[in-house]
Amino acid sequence: LTQLFRPLDMLGMVYRTIRQGLIDMAEMFRLLDTDVEVADKPGAPALVIGRPSVVFDNVVFGYEKDRAILNGLSFEVPAGRNYAIVGPSGAGKSTLARLLFRFYDPQEGRILIDGQNIKDVTQASLRAAIGIVPQDSVLFNDTIGYNIGYGREDATQSDIEAAARGASLMGLIDRLPKRFDTEVGERGLKLSGGEKQRVAIARTLVKNPPILLLDEATSALDTRTEQEILATLHRVAEHRTSISIAHRLSTIADADRILVLSDGRLVESGRHGELLRHDGLYADMWARQAAEAEELGEAAE
Ligand code: ATP
Repeated sequence: LTQLFRPLDMLGMVYRTIRQGLIDMAEMFRLLDTDVEVADKPGAPALVIGRPSVVFDNVVFGYEKDRAILNGLSFEVPAGRNYAIVGPSGAGKSTLARLLFRFYDPQEGRILIDGQNIKDVTQASLRAAIGIVPQDSVLFNDTIGYNIGYGREDATQSDIEAAARGASLMGLIDRLPKRFDTEVGERGLKLSGGEKQRVAIARTLVKNPPILLLDEATSALDTRTEQEILATLHRVAEHRTSISIAHRLSTIADADRILVLSDGRLVESGRHGELLRHDGLYADMWARQAAEAEELGEAAE
């Protein structure tokens, strides 16, 4: 948690975040990596979500003047679809996620959720609508029940249990001596990487956001655990609008559509098979990762 408080000028935002009862605080700040704060417009209304499509319309953005990171990026994720964003390191994938959370405003262009420009609505309502499932989550030194339910002030025990069930955590909880009241974290029970990730998924389920931002696990989970976590995530993402930021292409091969980013522009877009047939950047990345996986496999033999 200390890392949240490092940049002191963020304290105000941290405080408001806690007050607003958002659950993605830690994850948010991991993505945030900045001390810039954007302000709500006076009298800004809350985001109203019916069918939560996400649109980037000609978005231009750079952290510094004269160095654009997103160069006129346009795409639409229709409501209820699962899209993945891939691209070489530095292409702008995390930047795009930060803009969607409105940690920065684009210099040009617009970002719309369900037709509303995210600049025109309150940040609290925007961030309440988006759940992040991060690759590594922070656990508080508190009970596992608290860790699942924190942030949504009105979460009841039955909400927490339903979320634990949805995230396939009940097997673990039933084995714990004090079940949901078992202390976890540094001073309590140590959870494995996979279990921590399930807690993060359960937190997101408690929040029940219409939009999901999945930051693909690159952490050292064994293949079986990873497959199980992915299956759980797919279930959670079903019927929601989701954007997965992926490093390993094998995890997103079944996305409804894959958006390939390079130098802050959309260079290819399609389903896995279409992109392979297109034989462009995605096919290159796929071939490279397959070769790497083979080498690793050989090295392990
Ligand atoms: P990766 O796959 O390596 O995580 P990415 O596609 O997510 O990369 P971004 O993190 O969005 O890429 O970074 C895009 C570019 O923006 C990089 O050149 C990076 O150095 C730069 N950048 C990222 N964060 C900042 C920041 N806070 N200030 C200045 N430049 C930044």
